[in-house]
Amino acid sequence: MKLKTCAICRIKFAPSRPMQKVCSPACAYEYSRKETAKAETRKALEDRKTIKLSKDAIKTIRDWTKEAQIAFNAFIRERDRNQPCICCGRPLADSAVGGGFDCGHYRSVGSAPHLRFDERNAHGQTKQCNRYGAGRAVDYRIGLIQRIGLEQVESLESDQSPKKYSIEDLKAIKATYKQKLKELKHGR
Ligand SMILES: [Zn+2]
Ligand SMILES: [Zn+2]
Repeated sequence: MKLKTCAICRIKFAPSRPMQKVCSPACAYEYSRKETAKAETRKALEDRKTIKLSKDAIKTIRDWTKEAQIAFNAFIRERDRNQPCICCGRPLADSAVGGGFDCGHYRSVGSAPHLRFDERNAHGQTKQCNRYGAGRAVDYRIGLIQRIGLEQVESLESDQSPKKYSIEDLKAIKATYKQKLKELKHGR
């Protein structure tokens, strides 16, 4: 048989079997060790995928709503990063990690959940105004009129159309806002 190159030590050797890949028992041992490691890595990656799929499978509407909201809010914060606070006009702290300011909803997520993903209804707001000023609704409204106009504000205020999101809807919203955020950051 013609000479082959050992898969492990790369020396030329004369194989005694047609499928022989290595020159010696020592290289055979090394070869099977490597093959096992490869198979284990493949298996671990497969397992990870399976775990992610089963984790996704047990996620509830609530979990997906939360994830979609996080993606939406991150987009709003990026959109408004160079704007002042919607209600008080103070500059929004431009902190790099975690966001130095909030995405504040004009009509709150609690009382108007159907507007939770409405871009007209959400704006960059200092943490102080959003969390401790009860959203500062009156000042927020003034700022909002300046941003989107009275007509849009009134349309938001009268919007009572109920919205039911399916898990598929929420997944799509999350994906959309992740993408929109990426595009905004890219265009900086
Ligand atoms: Zn060898
Ligand atoms: Zn404010």
